[in-house]
Amino acid sequence: MGLSVLIVEKNSRHGGKLEQLEWEGYRWDKGPSLFTLPEQVDELFLLFDKNPRDFFNYKKVENSCHYYFNDGSNFLLKGDAETRNEDFIKHFYERDGRAAIDYVQKAEKTYNAIGGLFIDYPKYGLKNLFDKALITKYPMLMSRKVRGSLNALNQDSFENPNLIQLFDRYATYNGSSPFQASGLYSMIAHLEINNGTFFPTNGMRSIVDSLYDLAIAQGVDFAFNEPSIAISQETVGYKTKLSNSTIEAERVVSAIDCVTFYKNVLKNEKLAAKYAAKERSSSAIIFYWAVEKVIPELQLHNILFSSSYEREFNSIFKFGEMPKDPTVYLHVSSVANPKDAPTNGQNWFLMINTPAGVVPSDEQKKNLRKMIHRLIQEKFSVDISQAVLHEKVWDAAGIEADTGSFMGALYGASSNAKLAALTRHGNTSKKYKNAYFVGGTVHPGGGIPLVLKSAKIVANIIEKEK
Ligand SMILES: Cc1cc2nc3c(=O)[nH]c(=O)nc-3n(C[C@H](O)[C@H](O)[C@H](O)COP(=O)(O)OP(=O)(O)OC[C@H]3O[C@@H](n4cnc5c(N)ncnc54)[C@H](O)[C@@H]3O)c2cc1C
Repeated sequence: MGLSVLIVEKNSRHGGKLEQLEWEGYRWDKGPSLFTLPEQVDELFLLFDKNPRDFFNYKKVENSCHYYFNDGSNFLLKGDAETRNEDFIKHFYERDGRAAIDYVQKAEKTYNAIGGLFIDYPKYGLKNLFDKALITKYPMLMSRKVRGSLNALNQDSFENPNLIQLFDRYATYNGSSPFQASGLYSMIAHLEINNGTFFPTNGMRSIVDSLYDLAIAQGVDFAFNEPSIAISQETVGYKTKLSNSTIEAERVVSAIDCVTFYKNVLKNEKLAAKYAAKERSSSAIIFYWAVEKVIPELQLHNILFSSSYEREFNSIFKFGEMPKDPTVYLHVSSVANPKDAPTNGQNWFLMINTPAGVVPSDEQKKNLRKMIHRLIQEKFSVDISQAVLHEKVWDAAGIEADTGSFMGALYGASSNAKLAALTRHGNTSKKYKNAYFVGGTVHPGGGIPLVLKSAKIVANIIEKEK
């Protein structure tokens, strides 16, 4: 659009949650590990007539996820539709297997029919509830599927409790509980299962590295190490105070958690309190382990399920406590990119969902480590108690300190309430004209694909205004 752009960042470099860690030949992506809709990243390069492949490469993941259930069984969810459908039937038998195939097809239909309405456009408000585009979708939006929880939908769809747990897990993709979030989120299964998952050849970090290179090539300026920016609204535009200068700008785009932005940058306590009052999405504790062993069964993404999802999510969302018997997500990027670990090792990223704002005690961390050792022994008959050469830990407090995420929540407000999609912070503000909001805490939601959608929505709004 020919606008001059300055990005102000409190950290010493770009990337936010897409940071990485390195130690003696091991590399870990610190935050996101699951990459869907990669064409959205490509689109940014195409916008500037660049070949995305000159900057950024990725490949489709052959096996989406290896699920290990509490009853000792496991299921490898494959990327290829034909073998995946055969596996559904082989593993879960005729009735449930066919139900799973049907479920995934329906998820695609729902996504195609209404997904775009919510993620490609600014948030629907009261004034456009009667827009024609929306009215025609009311029967679908009012269906039992949407009014009930994701778990209720999955209970109705399947008999096998493992299959219910597998499809319940999609609520965690926006940090919510399957027992509260709407059945509409079954759409997420379509994105992962039908569209497939991808992995950048140089790790998740290369997404932001390549976008940084693109931004520099387009003349975007960056001001790093600017933690205490203060922005004030002027008659026209905004004044931004940095440590050594003041900048006047026509427009301001916040990519920070909206609560943190109101509180620390705009200093509007009232709006900060309003958005802070909404229930947070889950946070997490992540252990980054340099493991001096190779477990060949491990895929890029592995889930070691808890014995009861209901107990686990009640702990997180009802009682605000660390779950006693949590699900463990084990991501091993060296499976896709052998450069991420020495040949005799694997770089383990072990993530456990926790309530936002809750930091596990040293005792709880010790118990979690023991529990992981036990699970690995049970599932793979491998003793790793002496094989962890190095460890780093990230928790709700660390996530908040490093990225400004209020209470360390991964995706801003949770999507547990039925109308959560309509009550999320929008991409603009009534009070702050020419201020725009992008990122995981605002419409349309958290996670890389939705965050990129928020950026596109804002770019379209600014283009129209111009
Ligand atoms: C552990 C973890 C796992 C995740 N897994 C996935 C996944 O598998 N797939 C997926 O798609 N998404 C995942 N996500 C979510 C994903 O990381 C985010 O949605 C995405 O990276 C965008 O993040 P964000 O909008 O929250 O902004 P951030 O990346 O947090 O960026 C905000 C930026 O603002 C800066 N900032 C904050 N306060 C100030 C201030 N006062 N002044 C200046 N700068 C400031 C921060 O330093 C940061 O750089 C995960 C997140 C975490 C933490």
